[in-house]
Amino acid sequence: MFRYLPYVAGALLFCATPALADSDAPAPLAPAVQSFVRYSAPVIAIKHVRVIDGTGAAARESQTLVIKAGRIASVGPDAAAAVPAGAAAIDGTGRTIMPGLVGMHDHLFYLVGDQPVGHAMYVSFPRMYLAGGVTTIRTAGSMEPYADLNLKRAIDDGRVPGPHIDVSGPYISGPRSRLYMDIPRTPREVTEAVNYYADIGVTSFKAYAFVTKASLAALITAAHKRGIKVAGHLCSVTFHDAISLGIDSLEHGIEVATDFDAGKQPDICPAGKEHSETLRRLDIESEPVRRLIEELVSHHVANASTLAVYETGAPDRFPPQQRMLDSLDAQARLDYLATRNEILADKNNPSGELLKKEMRFERYFVKAGGLLMAGADPTGYGGSVAGFADQRNLELLVEAGFSPEQAIKIATANGAQFEGKLASIGTIATGKNADLVLIDGNPAANIADVEKVDTVFKDGIGYDSAKIFKAMEGQVGRQ
Ligand SMILES: [Zn+2]
Repeated sequence: MFRYLPYVAGALLFCATPALADSDAPAPLAPAVQSFVRYSAPVIAIKHVRVIDGTGAAARESQTLVIKAGRIASVGPDAAAAVPAGAAAIDGTGRTIMPGLVGMHDHLFYLVGDQPVGHAMYVSFPRMYLAGGVTTIRTAGSMEPYADLNLKRAIDDGRVPGPHIDVSGPYISGPRSRLYMDIPRTPREVTEAVNYYADIGVTSFKAYAFVTKASLAALITAAHKRGIKVAGHLCSVTFHDAISLGIDSLEHGIEVATDFDAGKQPDICPAGKEHSETLRRLDIESEPVRRLIEELVSHHVANASTLAVYETGAPDRFPPQQRMLDSLDAQARLDYLATRNEILADKNNPSGELLKKEMRFERYFVKAGGLLMAGADPTGYGGSVAGFADQRNLELLVEAGFSPEQAIKIATANGAQFEGKLASIGTIATGKNADLVLIDGNPAANIADVEKVDTVFKDGIGYDSAKIFKAMEGQVGRQ
């Protein structure tokens, strides 16, 4: 309960602040938000900066970008820039500006160790997504939809720092689901759940691994009637069947496709061990995989890449980053490290090999014209943490063979396109929201520079990334 007290305090302060008359002016920010703000001038000019615009185009050097009233007023070569008098200037020399990330699988809860229930992260995660450069998230399945909706309102009202949020409804699953999932049992109950949650503000849904085909069909039909898209982390239903039902996006790529499992029974999720053997044998270059990719693309089914959480399962990869370990509270760190040690000890762990396969699948999917997006998915056993994992995804997409500019497009414009928001976010262009990331470095030359975030602009307000991450040390797993 105590974790909600800051919101109450914020709300009281918010009410005591006189509203501004100008409707274009941003909502007044509560002190809890203001304390992380570095730039809030009404007009800001970032000069001599490198621009990676999110369209996949090559980085452009020596640009000037002007932010006015929360939007991008202009962007172009320094020499041609018309900087309004009185603009606050930021020297962008040696720096890069890119669109804010659109995290398409960015939960507001955190799973660590082998615990059956996620921890609600209503303090640390919204702040850390923002600090990591993520200015919009889709929660891709919710553990606590009411809290997610209330958090979204608190952020939109300027009471709490965080990204724009597309709140997903409760996971629609089936028998044997996880503890925190709502489990509508019949197609009729699914339809009722969709309408109820759509009425109270949910804007996306996700089906989970144990959903039946009949329930998935009801989910998609009811959601589409409300203009809402459906994502699926599938298992009991094959990709082929979900595509024919009209699903909008599939999460996690080929690793969760059960289309190739021999003896797959309708509505039954194959045992994990058998499925992993199937994946091990699966030839990504084979005709059946090529046909599945074609089917996904021709039905406009997007895919959300979650390479960062996959990587945490592979013993031959990474040591975990110090900044990630520093973000965990004592118990979460113990749980995380204990599970990691078990993974390291397992000589037959296939995760490294499967990660490489998933990377190849994603390359082929994009080559065939598929819409690939990206998200942190802070689950697994705790190594994927809000903000850090979104950045790590970009590095892994480049390792998969995408150019840095393509990887950035996947994590920005592609998510915005799927969300139907490309007119206002996702790329850098005049008139769009000033949702931007200012980086101390050049991700076009070295993608790991995406970790060097200086300032994250959301609606033209610049937040101090390092200050937020510092404030959240020891908080993940706790609040
Ligand atoms: Zn997930």
